[in-house]
Amino acid sequence: MTVVTDTLADIETRLAAAARAAGRDPAAVNLIAVSKTFGSEHILPVLEAGQRMFGENRVQEAKAKWPELRAHYPDIELHLIGPLQSNKTREAVALFDAIHTVDRPKIARAIAEEQARQEKRLKLFVEVNTGEEPQKAGIMPKETAAFVAHCRDDLGLEIAGLMCIPPVEEEPAVHFAFLAKLARDLGLPELSMGMSSDFETAASFGATHVRVGSAIFGAR
Ligand SMILES: *Cc1c(COP(=O)(O)O)cnc(C)c1O
Repeated sequence: MTVVTDTLADIETRLAAAARAAGRDPAAVNLIAVSKTFGSEHILPVLEAGQRMFGENRVQEAKAKWPELRAHYPDIELHLIGPLQSNKTREAVALFDAIHTVDRPKIARAIAEEQARQEKRLKLFVEVNTGEEPQKAGIMPKETAAFVAHCRDDLGLEIAGLMCIPPVEEEPAVHFAFLAKLARDLGLPELSMGMSSDFETAASFGATHVRVGSAIFGAR
């Protein structure tokens, strides 16, 4: 086996073990390989190892890399995990299968319009600023219920679940448990949470999508 095949297999084993230990079906936890900053020469071995779900945090960067990779691997699923500007929504809806960073009415409206125009429906997550950090993206916890209702009732958007990036200096488990409860209260089935350093914890708290970059591709 190549190094990356070993690494990927190890992460999948750890992820499945964490899910099982929490009484969950390992198949319910999706591994998103976050390939931001890495070029196609680094992504190809991961594709060849069988990985199909990938995450990027910039529309322009993804647009430069993925159309060509997708021509060779048509079953790729591409997730936007970084902030979206409304003037990039057309490209984002065309390129991605999922957006994890729906966090304000302007973006939600732009996505709704583009989905209608392109006759495409993406999997959408509302990003919640669970740490209420002023510099960080995401809707405040207290405003989440009203925002999800606005997306659904006024814009006709189907929201699959919630996403968070816990504050770096805090215990992630607290934030994962909080996000899981918020999603449960709102009847949202999916949870995008957990990165290289805490994906097992996230799986034990109900993550359906973990976003793992450096543990697969190496340091950025
Ligand atoms: C970069 C990034 C990740 C992956 O981080 P790693 O620590 O490299 O696993 C996950 N989520 C988001 C939103 C990111 O921007």
